Amino acid sequence: MNKVTISVDVCKGCGLCTTACPTKILVLATDKLNAKGYHPAEVTDMAKCRGCALCAMMCPDVAIKVEKEV
Ligand code: SF4
Ligand code: SF4
Repeated sequence: MNKVTISVDVCKGCGLCTTACPTKILVLATDKLNAKGYHPAEVTDMAKCRGCALCAMMCPDVAIKVEKEV
């Protein structure tokens, strides 16, 4: 399975990754706050991730790492 790792405390909750994801599996966790006081991005269903890394490319704070299954 592809793997998306989000550095929760680096995230500033801007939501850009959520708009970039073609399968819409990234959301802002409205029930969580990170160390900066933002709602961090999280993956809802990793099984649907295509490993395209659009989210990682979009993130202005380089908070997302994508490892594509080979
Ligand atoms: S790698 Fe692609 S499919 Fe997976 S979470 Fe990021 S944008 Fe979505
Ligand atoms: S684009 Fe980066 S900083 Fe913005 S919500 Fe997504 S992970 Fe957080």
